[in-house]
Amino acid sequence: MFLELSQLDVQYPGNPSPAVRGVNLGLRAGDIGVLIGPSGCGKTTLLRAVAGLEPVTGGKILLSNRVVSEVGHTEPAESRRIGMVFQDYALFPHMDVGRNVGFGLAHLPKKEQHQRVQDVLALVGLGGAENRYPHELSGGQQQRVALARALAPKPDLLLLDEPFSNLDIDLRERLAQEVRSILKAANATALLVTHDQLEAFAIGDVIGVMNEGQLHQWDDAYSLYHRPATRFVADFIGHGVFTPATLREVNGHILVSTAVGELTDVAECPLPCAFEGGECDVLLRADDIVHDDHAPVKAEIIRKAFRGSEFLYTLRLASGELLMAHVPSHHDHKLGEWIGIRAEVDHVVTFNRACSLNQRALCQMPCAKAEACEHADPKYQPVKFI
Ligand code: ADP
Repeated sequence: MFLELSQLDVQYPGNPSPAVRGVNLGLRAGDIGVLIGPSGCGKTTLLRAVAGLEPVTGGKILLSNRVVSEVGHTEPAESRRIGMVFQDYALFPHMDVGRNVGFGLAHLPKKEQHQRVQDVLALVGLGGAENRYPHELSGGQQQRVALARALAPKPDLLLLDEPFSNLDIDLRERLAQEVRSILKAANATALLVTHDQLEAFAIGDVIGVMNEGQLHQWDDAYSLYHRPATRFVADFIGHGVFTPATLREVNGHILVSTAVGELTDVAECPLPCAFEGGECDVLLRADDIVHDDHAPVKAEIIRKAFRGSEFLYTLRLASGELLMAHVPSHHDHKLGEWIGIRAEVDHVVTFNRACSLNQRALCQMPCAKAEACEHADPKYQPVKFI
């Protein structure tokens, strides 16, 4: 691993609880890692600790197998060979683009400086912009200049803190993809912080979901979505509900009974004996629920949100349970209408039954047998249920 965090704690003086608690993660050279989570979950603190701007209060940070932070030792930011990009670009307004980008290259001979500035500007798609000033550039262009400036000294690791948050939404996703290509072309190793899932999915090879200082899962986007390690991750990534279910084994096949009917042919489902009486909760995502006029199960539309090609419907079954469904937007049903639905679930994600009511908020409550909620797969980072 190029960057390794081991049992990392960061606690601010005077603050009763740590901002970062027991975080373990590893980032390979050339990979882009992304940290996401709600505001205040500790993402920036973790990034600042990696940069050497915040001392750690427990655990270690290693760069290329060298301990750069541990209790009582913080290798200064300047000697970590780290580049940083912040959300506010932080370009020098009185310097032209060329001088901004060349800012960290004073140690090189003039000719090499000039060449390197040209190379990185070409890399970020701003070749020939050396003589322009920041105020003459759009927000997206300014952010690319900031990226070029961070890449120019060839840092071992690039840290990016909400780099797109000052840009409008359309530009954000496009720039996230562009930045991914630029980082890959530069063969850079990078750790980026964002609160935006689409951005995280567009840019990250590996994504960490944080909450209240803890890292719940460090995984690729597909696994976060289809194999969430905790209820928090399941709830944070995508739209869905937890619904009570019963697992049974019949002729070597696992059947999952839910309020939307029996799920059959399911892959990756635990055995019924994993739960007392096979009783558990399953995650039903909006794209697991299919609108089908001929389905025997009907649900009432109680909320709908237009998302261009589809609606996100919130549905209520006759039993009172809530579900969510993505339905193509040409099926424009009215609120209060009852529509046929069925479940099509590939990966059954199970959790210990947390509560008797199917209410997401309640299902977030601490669960007595929490450890058993998690997958046994050791690939998942040590995860604690909160
Ligand atoms: P995020 O980047 O996910 O929004 P932060 O890392 O900024 O979260 O903050 C994590 C927690 O640490 C929050 O509770 C925040 O109030 C606290 N915190 C952040 N910076 C400081 C600081 N300089 N002093 C004390 N507490 C801080």
